[in-house]
Amino acid sequence: MSASFKEAQLRAQQLRNEIDHHSYLYYALNEPELSDSAFDSLLRELIDLEKQWPQIIVPTSPTQRVGGYVENNTFDSVQHSKRMYSLDNAMDLGELDAWLKRVSDAIGSNPKSLFDEELSYVCELKIDGSSIAITYSDGELKRAATRGDGLTGEDVTANIRTIRDIPLRLQQDISGEIEVRGEVYMPHASFDRLNVALEEEAQAAGKTPKLFANPRNAAAGSLRQKESRITATRDLASFIYAVAKDNNLPVSSQWELLQWLRKCGFHVNPSIALCKTAEEVHEFCKQAIDMRNDLPYDIDGVVVKVNSLNTQKQLGFTAKAPRWAIAFKFPPEEKTTVLRDIVVQVGRTGVLTPVAEFDPVLVTGSTVARATLHNLDEVKRKDVRIGDTIIIRKAGDVIPEVLKAVQSLRPGDTEVWQMPTNCPSCGSHVFKDEDGVAYRCVSSECPAQRLERLGHWVSRTAMDIDGLGAKIIEKLVANNLVVDVASFYNLTIDQLATLETGEEKYVRSLSAEKRALTGDYEKEPALLGTLMATKIHEQIQESKNRPPARVLFGLGIRNVGKTVAETLVRQFRTIDALRNATEEELTLIEGIGPVIAKTIRHFFDTSDNIRLIEELREAGLDLGKTSGDGSQDDTYQDLPQTLAGLTFVLTGSLENHTRDEAEEVLRSYGAKASGSVSSKTSYVVAGPGAGSKLAKAQQLGIKILDEDALDKILATGEPPQAI
Ligand code: NAD
Repeated sequence: MSASFKEAQLRAQQLRNEIDHHSYLYYALNEPELSDSAFDSLLRELIDLEKQWPQIIVPTSPTQRVGGYVENNTFDSVQHSKRMYSLDNAMDLGELDAWLKRVSDAIGSNPKSLFDEELSYVCELKIDGSSIAITYSDGELKRAATRGDGLTGEDVTANIRTIRDIPLRLQQDISGEIEVRGEVYMPHASFDRLNVALEEEAQAAGKTPKLFANPRNAAAGSLRQKESRITATRDLASFIYAVAKDNNLPVSSQWELLQWLRKCGFHVNPSIALCKTAEEVHEFCKQAIDMRNDLPYDIDGVVVKVNSLNTQKQLGFTAKAPRWAIAFKFPPEEKTTVLRDIVVQVGRTGVLTPVAEFDPVLVTGSTVARATLHNLDEVKRKDVRIGDTIIIRKAGDVIPEVLKAVQSLRPGDTEVWQMPTNCPSCGSHVFKDEDGVAYRCVSSECPAQRLERLGHWVSRTAMDIDGLGAKIIEKLVANNLVVDVASFYNLTIDQLATLETGEEKYVRSLSAEKRALTGDYEKEPALLGTLMATKIHEQIQESKNRPPARVLFGLGIRNVGKTVAETLVRQFRTIDALRNATEEELTLIEGIGPVIAKTIRHFFDTSDNIRLIEELREAGLDLGKTSGDGSQDDTYQDLPQTLAGLTFVLTGSLENHTRDEAEEVLRSYGAKASGSVSSKTSYVVAGPGAGSKLAKAQQLGIKILDEDALDKILATGEPPQAI
């Protein structure tokens, strides 16, 4: 919220310019640069500002008018018989309830005689297409117009005639004029076909293809084609849901109207509900969210309408929208927020990762306040600066990502972000990788790296020691009980049981007098306790049975992911043999290049690491045996083909594996790993930075997984639905 009136006024003006610019790109050019949810987020900020400071509202504000354009020269213009309105939005169920209350309050305060029935609502899917008004004269299609600015639209009659599910003649006998309204949309299959065709056409002509961003823009663009011959090839479809100009229709409610429209031969969406209570309305909204990805066309919400047409009339309209209807919008996948800081995290191999910290926002159903920015190059490429208004995306279940900064909303005093020259954890000088983009702290004593290394050792894909979370590891290190991964094996149950967890617990005061005085409880630091300590101790002992490849992976050698570790142990059979291998010998192995060979050699040439391996041996860990005695980690040859028939596409960056490694493991379980998304793809694993493949997967309704889900599949071989 802005601090002062002046600031609010300035911000509102900036937002209006930005919103008008994007409305033009969207409505007039059909070439949006922002997603609808990011656009809505900016509009919502403006609505909130104007609510807080009503003095700043101007009539030209996008909050005060129906957004849309009418071009002067392409089509004849049509004055709408009755204004075409937009809809007010409810961004969540709370806002929906507030609207339901407003409606029932408004009705409660009016004389009962004005209303002819008990309040009920019709819920309809909000089709993400282009608004249309079609006039029939004596039952014959006479004229069709776009919404335009609400008062004047464009005459697109010839184009509308090409849409097969719009009747040219009504199936009911209706004399005089009647005007119906609805939505023209482009089904997903038509949209995919259109963009493929546009791409091929452009390629053949040696041009860069100009594709449609989404089915809504494709529908609007196709409807406004100069040649109806072209519109006819676009496979548009329609849903009709309203009558604007009626001739004493034989209906008195929205529900009856929809049935009547169906009888007239219009395509009416089958997913509708007549609801009496807020709970029933909520239920429909939740069902719509669930069915959204299975529908063959886009919807962006639910429209809730007062059922009685008479009550609708009484409630009337604001300047922009009916009071008797509201659009419940789906949880946005993109939101705007303000970037407050860029902090630097130090990883297990010393890599410094910039992380964006921003004002918390609710995106796709959960609140997020941090997102990785990966590396300095990424920060530069996106040019995000502290103080910027940024767009956060969280597609599907994937982790949040900073998409970009809204440049025009940048405050005047921002600075280009720089990587610190010293490690934020230990203060050592940081170096840029010669062969990459990463900046790295190379100090072996860096506490942040140590914690990350210890966390990696106990993680599920490495030694899988349950119960040793980050907080407990931190305490163990702070108490000098753990310095490296070998120290876990020296821990006693007693040491663990008396470890303070960092939490506090309530205890009854030991002093009887004090208790008598206050009747109160005191707090004392919580300890891990014998029960938990015994469990963790057992888990640590149990981890000694992990195969040598897991031990090697757990050591966290740079570039040695799970699959490389498996390959190395398969080749050398023991970690001792690997320790003696030269760089040349290492590079002879398939999948091991000079970079990996160099880091492996460097690891084993470091005396601290040799000492660590000896301590692990002493603790009883399995470092591999030279002969085929059955103790080998026999990698993948005989793995059950649990993923046979499934095709995975991996996109974006992965933290725990290289893409090649992960694909190899998937293949070893019988799955196919492919580089491109098609309708045959079973799952897309999307890491940070995932782009067009993720977008395509969403379009095709393919299930999207994050790296956590991938880790589970790689560790268990179980197909995703069983996890
Ligand atoms: P709207 O699309 O949110 O809602 C109003 C429209 O909903 C109506 O005009 C009607 O055509 C349609 N609708 C669909 N199903 C309906 C049903 N069953 N009953 C009644 N109406 C139904 O509002 P709007 O003013 O047309 O446009 C705003 C939309 O355009 C927002 O989603 C916004 O994000 C998007 N937009 C995006 C950008 C961008 O840059 N991405 C720019 C401008 C606008």
